[in-house]
Amino acid sequence: MSVRRLLTASACFAALTFGAGLSHAQDYDVSFDNAVHHEARITVTYREVGSAPVRFQMSRSSPGRYAVHEFAKNIYSVSAVDGRGRPLTIDRTDPYGWTVPGHDGTVSLSYTLFADRSDGTYSQIDASHAHLNMPATLAWATGFDDRPVVVRFKPFSPDWIVATQLQPQAEPNTFAAPNLQYLMDSPTELSAHMVREWTVDDAGVPRTIRIAMHHAGTDAEMDTFTERARRIVDQQIAVFGDVPDYDFGTYSFIADYLPWVNGDGMEHRNSTIINDTRSLKDANFDQLGTLSHEFFHSWNVERIRPEELEPFDFTRANPTPSLWFAEGFTSYYGPLTIRRAGVANTDAFLGEMGGQLDFVQNAAGRRFGSPQEMSLRAPFVDAATSIDPTNPNIFVSYYPYGAVIGFGLDLTLRQRFPGVTLDDLMRAMWRTHGVPERPYAPADIEAALAEVTGDPAFARNWFARTIEGSDLPDFGPLLAQAGVLIQPVRPTAAWAGAVRLPAMGAPVIAAALAPGTPLYAAGLDRGDQIVAVGDKAIAGQTDWTAALAAAKPGDEVSIRFLQRGVERSAMLRFAPDPSFTLVRVEAGGGLVTPAQLAFREAWLGAATE
Ligand SMILES: [Zn+2]
Repeated sequence: MSVRRLLTASACFAALTFGAGLSHAQDYDVSFDNAVHHEARITVTYREVGSAPVRFQMSRSSPGRYAVHEFAKNIYSVSAVDGRGRPLTIDRTDPYGWTVPGHDGTVSLSYTLFADRSDGTYSQIDASHAHLNMPATLAWATGFDDRPVVVRFKPFSPDWIVATQLQPQAEPNTFAAPNLQYLMDSPTELSAHMVREWTVDDAGVPRTIRIAMHHAGTDAEMDTFTERARRIVDQQIAVFGDVPDYDFGTYSFIADYLPWVNGDGMEHRNSTIINDTRSLKDANFDQLGTLSHEFFHSWNVERIRPEELEPFDFTRANPTPSLWFAEGFTSYYGPLTIRRAGVANTDAFLGEMGGQLDFVQNAAGRRFGSPQEMSLRAPFVDAATSIDPTNPNIFVSYYPYGAVIGFGLDLTLRQRFPGVTLDDLMRAMWRTHGVPERPYAPADIEAALAEVTGDPAFARNWFARTIEGSDLPDFGPLLAQAGVLIQPVRPTAAWAGAVRLPAMGAPVIAAALAPGTPLYAAGLDRGDQIVAVGDKAIAGQTDWTAALAAAKPGDEVSIRFLQRGVERSAMLRFAPDPSFTLVRVEAGGGLVTPAQLAFREAWLGAATE
């Protein structure tokens, strides 16, 4: 059953957890006696399971990450007992699970977990913390998904406290979830961490926002971070005009800012993991970028949710064609609301969006698929690992691709439909799919666009060209409304394509070249060694840079290269460098008009609602 339907009855669940209902719950005991060697010892008990064999398994996927992960690979020393503590036989028929055939209606499975990667998908256990992503941590039995769950932690150190979206119980270090889906969505951090919290007003109802931060920084740094986070949170609430009804009343940012974690952000219904290897000081609070992105997800993807993700199937990849909206539009609103909050200036925002636009507009991959196709490829790229190479030129990440589409649509709406903005589209999706939660299909986004513009033909045409096809709008006139210019980075430089050569040693091309670039057209590929350009020998990066500097766009020269043991030669025709940035017209020496300034203020200024 879906988390969403179940949690509409969360008040009922709250009563349940403190009453007799929990006697039917399955419970987990999680301890960390061997934390220094990255081990947890976990026991899960299922009661009143009938007489049939019980199959336990580890998840193979985790919400918000799209590749398959084999979490069972870190599980060992598995044993089982019945309700009276008698040892039970375990059948191992496949790598993912453990089946217990003969029991008395109660089965306790115990196992050791090894975990040493702290991010949004994995777990890390050491003397400093237990950072737990539940699909990577907790085994579960098939067929009992709707039962409530209790989790008891035994902290490794007495100063560890617990940060989680699970519901706290009366007993210390004990938490509950209404069902398996909610449990798996609830990452948990046990450590000696700092906590700040405040409330936001949801039409008269206070909702608590909490930041739990495990870091080596000062209280003053934590306070500065919190103050900026509050402003970003306020601007995002203003986009939707509503605060999600966080289950159990609280939303938690769970941050690990330590050198031994992995940088990441991962969204959940009422919490997020926001990790970074840098301290707040070293990063100059740059971590707010991830915070902004992930908080926006508490509307867009957690509650305005693609139907393909609901309910989540933990035994396989869960692909959806709508990540250009779920991740991409979120990637536009992350920096946009940071700008509106006054945490970054207009130039920083234009720098960020200009970088994404440059990347997407010049990406070879768009000719191989639409944003929907790129979204469906997520299981192959989102933390997916394999030993055989894939062609990197057939994929454009739905993060920047979707961000650029949102950017372009926002400017298009403001141009063609006075008074209408992308915020109106987000609010329409919130009204029709967020409260109450009703997962959406791709056609629902088109319908919402038709609703806010009052122009179904525009919505159909935009969807067909931009989402089912690979078109991008002409950004020049769209950006001119705001007095923003598209400025070439190196307008007179000769360009052969993005090519990586080692800083030292022989000039061997280190990464695949993109179709449409001069080196690709000349027949060079990854692994080839450049020998000479014209009559100049190329011994390394310095010679290559000098050869480029001596040429101009349109020049044609001979190039010699060593390819899989054979020396070849070809003609190389230099092109103009296509890379560009976005700049304010007045920063480029031009004159900004009052209308352009007014447009900028309406778009990037603080919302005061
Ligand atoms: Zn995201």
